[in-house]
Amino acid sequence: MSDATPLTSVGAWASSILSQVRGYKRRGLLSEESVRAPGLRGPPLVFKIKNSLIGAVIGHGGSKIRDIQSTTNTKIQIIPVQGDSEADVNIFGSKDMQAKAKAIIETIVERQGSNYQYSECTVNNAAPQPAVARDSTTDNTVREVRPLIDWDQIRARMTDWETRRWEDLAPIKKDFYIESKATSSLSQMQADFWRKEHFNIICDDLKDGEKRSIPNPTIKFEDAFQNYPELMKNIQKAGFQKPMPIQSQVWPIVLQGIDVVGVSQTGTGKTLSYLLPGLIHINSQPTPREQRNGPGMLVLTPTRELALQVGNECSKYAYKNLKSICIYGGGNRQQQIKDVAKDIDIIIATPGRLHDLQMNNFVNLRSITYLVLDEADKMLDMGFQPQIMKILLDVRPDRQMIMTSATWPDTIRRLSQTYLKEPMIVYVGTLDLVAVNTVKQNIIVTTEEEKRSLIKEFLHNLSPKDKVIVFVSRKIVADDLSSNLSVQGLSVQSLHGNREQSEREQALDDFKSGNVKILISTDLASRGLDVDDITHVYNYDFPRNIEEYVHRVGRTGRAGKTGISITLMTKNDWKTAPELIKILERSNQSIPEALVTMAKKCKLGEQNRDTGNKSKLFQQKPKDFH
Ligand code: AMP
Repeated sequence: MSDATPLTSVGAWASSILSQVRGYKRRGLLSEESVRAPGLRGPPLVFKIKNSLIGAVIGHGGSKIRDIQSTTNTKIQIIPVQGDSEADVNIFGSKDMQAKAKAIIETIVERQGSNYQYSECTVNNAAPQPAVARDSTTDNTVREVRPLIDWDQIRARMTDWETRRWEDLAPIKKDFYIESKATSSLSQMQADFWRKEHFNIICDDLKDGEKRSIPNPTIKFEDAFQNYPELMKNIQKAGFQKPMPIQSQVWPIVLQGIDVVGVSQTGTGKTLSYLLPGLIHINSQPTPREQRNGPGMLVLTPTRELALQVGNECSKYAYKNLKSICIYGGGNRQQQIKDVAKDIDIIIATPGRLHDLQMNNFVNLRSITYLVLDEADKMLDMGFQPQIMKILLDVRPDRQMIMTSATWPDTIRRLSQTYLKEPMIVYVGTLDLVAVNTVKQNIIVTTEEEKRSLIKEFLHNLSPKDKVIVFVSRKIVADDLSSNLSVQGLSVQSLHGNREQSEREQALDDFKSGNVKILISTDLASRGLDVDDITHVYNYDFPRNIEEYVHRVGRTGRAGKTGISITLMTKNDWKTAPELIKILERSNQSIPEALVTMAKKCKLGEQNRDTGNKSKLFQQKPKDFH
């Protein structure tokens, strides 16, 4: 007997489909007509599919429909209508994405449909391979034979759909660079020497195949912006002497319209490296601003603080009256919805809130031609990858894109390969972790019990000119420590994720203005916080990884000043001792004996674990072979 015995009547086949439908309903994979898709506005795109094809669209345990929803940013309801052989499919989301989801469902339906038709018409002819069949071994179980998926066809459809989706958009102009005489007269040797002298800038073309030549750095502001007098005026107003190294190398690349990955520590001038070329880009598009129907530049940042900071920089360089807004979680959503509907040119946003507004059709991202992922490594650390992916789905693929990151791990490499087109990479300083050498780093090995008295003594001895940021590991420690210090008469502010947005902004304002000289913070402030007169960083709790240590320490010793960091370590932090020693060595810091002992213990522990594992392996009984 063949293991795929054909069904003997269409009636039995139909009843099995109905029982599947009931199963999907029970598991919440199908909606009743009365159920509304939560959180989605606008009318759904409605069409019908045969009841027999519902299972194929929903997929095993709902996997397929979830995939379609997440790749298209839509909500999909499938509503079987009683007494009808067809079900309603309702797709909620943006028009583009509704069409995309429908195209995917149609492809599935087409493949499955031909298969089911084959099965239906061959049922009575005892065809050898029906789509739904009884298993010969367990007579009552209905089993689905899955057809092969034609991926080539699906891919071809998707490409075709993508082309049609963007074809009505005006072309983008990206190249605005006219090399100055001074820049073009630099010889290769002079350019290389300049890069070496300026934090060892390394630049590479990540394009496959033949490499493009790396443009010479723009050593003066005029070399990059001589044709933009209004911008030059604003730079002069800011009082800057010369471009920061990353700016010198990134500007001539971005102004040519090439995608860039900028890897450098925070506080090195990354914001202006993408912002100034971005202002030129959005103001110089062939389509006038008023006809673009939406913003031209989008900057995604990991935290509200960084978003606000970038927003401030935008306003400082107010160019051609370009308007920007900040959109971030915790801020007034209603107000942000109103703001985003106005004529704005630049959106600076955290991924979560922007994705929320995108899903609800409050924001149009089709007009974006210049896109920045700022502090991309931090955004991935914070788990924003899904939101970033969904946001990027609605941005035209021929945009210009810039990504900045303080580190260059594999995850960031992959992100750049996926979303940037033939980028160049500029890294400032070595790619190894190096804490800024303008900071004197002190390590104190102590116990948990002693930490309180150490910090109290330190804070009570501060001079009036000092400003200190104290890093702690958890929100509760931040609250506890700040109330304890306040009780002792010290004026402190605290910053962590459980505080209201207005309180966080107030804390930062107080600290920036100098009203309060002590800020107790979680790692929320370890990156991108731009307060350039912090004299001390105090690591009350050691950070969860060595990268975070480098970022924290980098909060002081900024903008040409020197700073001091004090780090308390206890026996709980022994695992990071060897890495910390490397960092201290690279930035020529002294290494306390107690830290060396800690590192030795750590190595010994690892060796013991290794030999323990090995000896355990040897102790294992040989496996029996059968
Ligand atoms: P960022 O790395 O973008 O957070 O910048 C750190 C700080 O450097 C900010 O306060 C900027 O205003 C400042 N800055 C940016 N460019 C320059 C420059 N060319 N010269 C001096 N300071 C600058």
